[in-house]
Amino acid sequence: MAQWDYDVIIIGGGPAGLTAGLYAGRARLKAVLLEKLIHGGQMMTTDFVENYPGFPEGISGAELSDRMRQQAERFGLEIRTAEVRELQPGDGFHTVKLEEGELKAGAVIIATGASYKRLGVPGEDKFTGRGVSFCATCDGALYRDQEIAMVGGGDSALSETIFLTRFAKKIHLIHRRDEFRGAKYLQEKVLNMDKVQVHWDTVVQEFQGDEQGLNGLKLKNVKSGETSFLPVEGAFVAIGITPNTEWLKDLLPLDEWGFIFTDPEMATKIPGIFAAGDVRAKNLWQIATAVGDGAVAANAAEHFLQQVKQG
Ligand code: NAP
Repeated sequence: MAQWDYDVIIIGGGPAGLTAGLYAGRARLKAVLLEKLIHGGQMMTTDFVENYPGFPEGISGAELSDRMRQQAERFGLEIRTAEVRELQPGDGFHTVKLEEGELKAGAVIIATGASYKRLGVPGEDKFTGRGVSFCATCDGALYRDQEIAMVGGGDSALSETIFLTRFAKKIHLIHRRDEFRGAKYLQEKVLNMDKVQVHWDTVVQEFQGDEQGLNGLKLKNVKSGETSFLPVEGAFVAIGITPNTEWLKDLLPLDEWGFIFTDPEMATKIPGIFAAGDVRAKNLWQIATAVGDGAVAANAAEHFLQQVKQG
């Protein structure tokens, strides 16, 4: 009789966690996936996924997430809504402390993903939800026929700008350099859109507004030093991601941005604790790479548990 509740506890229900759950289920491990709110992670706020293989016409993030969940559950994965407070490594088993109660497992896979980065300038917090948004899929439709801004120059800012052209009258794309970071294909698309005006070498100094909400951005051109006011009804910020590892920082070695170091088998420094997906230090944070991480982590956890059982 095992001394733990589950063979594997998977923390986080994005593509990495759901794939780890699928593989754990197929390996006939007793596995549970713990998700704070709803499964899907950032996929749930991605309008349209065009670069996940197997869907030549693209697929909505929500549908892809739902399909991954169904597939994992078909092979026996249990999914629970629970907020994890702490992970206590131990000899023989690890303890996952929840808001209510605790669970013990032989192996743990951390797949807690990442959250949106914030600019950290005045007005950003005050007007979040009242004109400032981090999720074009969630809030884009609020700005039908209005003039809005998007801040960032990576894949997220470019693909969300394309999405927002469905609603907005005009989109001001504000980027701090004179070259985008995002994929060339997205750059070409954005630069050919009449509704999009790019403000190169420009940073947001302040989000300004009144009791009604946001009414514009104070901008600065970093080359000329010139400042200006851009009147907009909404502003989206898509400047990258921060890993959800705050709760792990005294436990595991993290890189300078807070991503978890793993070996190629997704193993962390603590035997039996693995990390997969956006939470992990790597070079490409995509659904496709998260899925790969999840498969490798579950396979490595299975091997680890076999070794433990063989003593
Ligand atoms: P990202 O690739 O890290 O790009 C962040 C962008 O925001 C960069 O252009 C950066 O400017 C800018 N930025 C960062 N901090 C800033 C600040 N404080 N002030 C102003 N600008 C700032 O982030 P991402 O676009 O969110 O993408 C994250 C990951 O998800 C990437 O791996 C990306 O490939 C992936 N993703 C892929 C797709 C897709 O369709 N394939 C879609 C979304 C996301 P600099 O360029 O000057 O550094």
